[in-house]
Amino acid sequence: INTVQKLPGTEHVLPCRYAIFASGQIMDFPQDQGVPLTPRKLMEADTGAHTKTAKLFAGGDCVQGPSFIVDAVAWGHRAARSINEFLGASVPRDAKPLTVIESTDDHREADYYLREEPPILPAEKRMDMTPVELPWNDEQAITAALRCFQCDTVHHVDESTCILCGACDDVCPEKALDVVVAGENRDTSSGGFVEICNTVLGEEFGGKSGKILVNYDRCTNCRICEDHCPVNCITFQRVRFRDDAMQMIPLTPVASGGKATAKAGL
Ligand code: SF4
Ligand code: SF4
Repeated sequence: INTVQKLPGTEHVLPCRYAIFASGQIMDFPQDQGVPLTPRKLMEADTGAHTKTAKLFAGGDCVQGPSFIVDAVAWGHRAARSINEFLGASVPRDAKPLTVIESTDDHREADYYLREEPPILPAEKRMDMTPVELPWNDEQAITAALRCFQCDTVHHVDESTCILCGACDDVCPEKALDVVVAGENRDTSSGGFVEICNTVLGEEFGGKSGKILVNYDRCTNCRICEDHCPVNCITFQRVRFRDDAMQMIPLTPVASGGKATAKAGL
């Protein structure tokens, strides 16, 4: 996308007291306020975006380093909740978002459509500041979007079927998956591991017990582990959280003067 186009009829009003324009590539932290920094020169904040400096909340790339836009959105939600609480709103501590689990398709389009490199401006035309990497056309862009890796999915292991063979551990290209048979020691102090299976095998397998750990900071959702499980006990499920405490404000179209168009609540 090279330009921003205005689409007639899409204007809408967002009621608010302040609008904070936030767009930047370089962290702009207030050095004179003694904001604590981590050894990586990032701002120190907890997962609720609280810093040790009064009235200062921080999240996103300036706290965790470069990451995905979905992480930035999540930080924004948590920071908004913390600021809301700081300003006096009551935020129930034990409120838990509703979890919705859906089974996913048993295939991904990324398995069928190859990744396509964007077209490149020919060397003889590179005379000015015109971007060298050109945009996809509509068809290419739609095909690329179909290749979604569905990274909102997580493993589901049928514990009654898993035989703790370790095949999924062996084939994982990211070393994100660890099959730990009882008695083995694992250093999980670096954090990030989630237990997805904890099972005890029958007598035919020696009655051994074990578990499977996944580190979702490393997992790319390639699903090679699913393909190589000899007993097909790995599937993937999509998990969504519906946080009723963060209701969306219905958009108010400018032209109709008040009729809401966006559905609230999701
Ligand atoms: S490949 Fe399948 S059976 Fe083997 S340890 Fe992994 S989940 Fe269990
Ligand atoms: S989906 Fe891919 S990266 Fe994730 S645990 Fe399985 S093999 Fe490893």
